[in-house]
Amino acid sequence: MQIETKLPKVGTTIFTVMSQLAATHGAVNLGQGFPDFDGPQELRDALTRAMAEGRNQYAPMTGWPTLRQQIALKTQALYGRKVDADTEVTVTSGATEALFAAVAAVVRTGDEVIVLDPCYDSYEPAIELNGGVAVHVPLDARDFSVDWQRVRDAVTPRTRMIIVNTPHNPCGSVFSAGDLDALAALTRDTGIFVLSDEVYEHIVFDGAPHQSVLRHEELAARSFVVSSFGKTFHCTGWKIGYCVAPRALSDEFRKVHQYLTFCTFTPAQIALAEVLEKLPQHYLELPAFYQARREFFRGLLEGSRFRLLPVAGAYFQVVDYSAISDKDDLGFCEWLVKSAGVAAIPLSSFYESPPADQRLIRFCFAKSDDVLRAGAERLRGL
Ligand code: PMP
Ligand code: GLN
Repeated sequence: MQIETKLPKVGTTIFTVMSQLAATHGAVNLGQGFPDFDGPQELRDALTRAMAEGRNQYAPMTGWPTLRQQIALKTQALYGRKVDADTEVTVTSGATEALFAAVAAVVRTGDEVIVLDPCYDSYEPAIELNGGVAVHVPLDARDFSVDWQRVRDAVTPRTRMIIVNTPHNPCGSVFSAGDLDALAALTRDTGIFVLSDEVYEHIVFDGAPHQSVLRHEELAARSFVVSSFGKTFHCTGWKIGYCVAPRALSDEFRKVHQYLTFCTFTPAQIALAEVLEKLPQHYLELPAFYQARREFFRGLLEGSRFRLLPVAGAYFQVVDYSAISDKDDLGFCEWLVKSAGVAAIPLSSFYESPPADQRLIRFCFAKSDDVLRAGAERLRGL
């Protein structure tokens, strides 16, 4: 039997493709975004303990209560917003599930959802599977900031949602307070929901605050805010994320969540709750931790023929390789992994239509010193 595909534009994700090529060719994998080091020992101990103590059955559908409370406390402490742990916080199987559930909760057939290119690859399939249409608006090509006038021009009576992402994957740009005001002005007196992907909320550099939409009264009232413990606690394989949204939005979100997964891995929720309470310094020190990785990797690439773009947040370094090759970015990444032994991600995979002459690729610097050194040595030779 044949299935008439619902996702004709989708193949295997570039992250999987590049990780497989890296393994096949024995390359240094600076492609797929995941740390090659573990999170706090306390976290792993807490997980083991939870399992040993027999906490191995379903968690409550909305998430383990103490974890929801810790998320609410962190939200208030960091962003000044008091949210109700029982009705406004939902624990999910990774941010990916939360993004899907938020889209599914509001998007109806024919609705338009504005996404800002380049954007994370799960947004558009989530929109399309729910009958919506992704309307792609490019970020400003000079610095990957949002051109709010272009966003405004893309709004129509069918616009149901805008998806934003700060700190930004792949570009490393971050929102300013002015961006929040612009987004609030744009959505004011409309029925447009905001889906704010803030999975890198704790990875913002140079002393800047993370401009969560939760800081903004007006935006918080219409937003689903999504985050991921995978990024914050170096455990992407645990797939625990969450969504904070006002009660009416969370109610609908939960209707979807309860039939997507019902709940997620109980011992990890218990462990994360414990560590959020006892070890807040882990996430408070994360900006400094990753800023040091950023400086180290950028230093290693000094003297190479790559041009390094600024990185204000997240754990990706975008580089321009036009001094090295005039191949397109996918072709260059294929060559790089096979011939130079380094895996990277082409930026074009984050676009509906990438700028024709753009020569940009992304490296992940959430890697140990030796791995970054080995990768950079190969890159300096080009
Ligand atoms: N959004 C962005 C911007 C991401 O980079 C990622 C993962 N790298 C996700 C969502 C998905 O997060 P999770 O692994 O928790 O599903
Ligand atoms: N978000 C990660 C990245 O940008 C990859 C996650 C995945 O492989 N799905 O590299």
